[in-house]
Amino acid sequence: MKPFTYVRPAQVQDAIAAARGDGARYLAGGTTLVDLMRLEVMRPSAIVDVGRLPLAAIARDGDGIRIGAMARNTDVATHPLVVERYPVLAEAILAGASQQVRNMASVGGNLLQRTRCPYFRDPAVPCNKRAPRTGCSALDGYTRSHAILGTSESCIATHPSDMCVALAALDAVVHTRSGSRERAIPIGELHTMPGQHPEIENVLEHGELITHVALPPSPFAAHSRYVKVRDRAAFAFALASAAVGLDVADGRIRAARVALGGVATRPWRSPEAEESLVGQPPVRATFERAAAAAMVDAKPRRDNAFKVELAQRTVVRALELAWRKS
Ligand code: SF4
Repeated sequence: MKPFTYVRPAQVQDAIAAARGDGARYLAGGTTLVDLMRLEVMRPSAIVDVGRLPLAAIARDGDGIRIGAMARNTDVATHPLVVERYPVLAEAILAGASQQVRNMASVGGNLLQRTRCPYFRDPAVPCNKRAPRTGCSALDGYTRSHAILGTSESCIATHPSDMCVALAALDAVVHTRSGSRERAIPIGELHTMPGQHPEIENVLEHGELITHVALPPSPFAAHSRYVKVRDRAAFAFALASAAVGLDVADGRIRAARVALGGVATRPWRSPEAEESLVGQPPVRATFERAAAAAMVDAKPRRDNAFKVELAQRTVVRALELAWRKS
């Protein structure tokens, strides 16, 4: 492993100052970075441990809530405000990883977790994301776990997070700080599509620190669900997942949220599915039309073509469960 310096500041401004150097990286729970350093996929020259920063609070924020970037995934998923007002977020977090990983993983780290594409994690093979302009080994490789939405000829890697899919459905806003500048970034603008530059995964600048996530009030709490389909019941990434919310009045859907995971290069909100739901009765035929609309731009490959139908079934299942929920 490449040698690195290590600091553990107690204040946000000290952490930002320490992360200015080119090779610096923030360390939160370590569930992504430490793995990738062991594999020599990431080779930072300086580690800025943000575990001591006062950024772990979860609290009311007007009619919404504010979740600190260092809040542990377990603490978010079990917090009474989250369970009561944003059950889809609690479900999504609890569907991810293992209890031990959730105890360590932070909200900020989860937002920035990196793909599980096996070629990305193997420094012996070409990968445009790990080493720009070297090629993509997945394009002619085994693509069962890869994306069918938002892909490019440079990269077809799937975004791995469950939490981010729920945050996309909930219109979360990610707050950051960089020097004296603060930004509020809608979750839909945080993660970038691979295009010609899959090495760029988000709009954050070097050293920009996520401080907290704000969730606006949600009319979907009573009818929202996260459904995840995977190879085994625990500690597995999604083959397809869906975070959905329904706001129903007088037998018609007034508003809807549909976001997908496991099938796209970033947390994937589907305006096509949402538009097809609005104004319709909450019945299976409506849900099937929405699921089909969500896949209209899908570009499957040989090994992951099954995801088109799997994702549709997952969306339908999630909508049915959300509607039945009372
Ligand atoms: Fe790398 Fe993306 Fe290709 Fe995977 S899909 S090998 S991450 S460029």
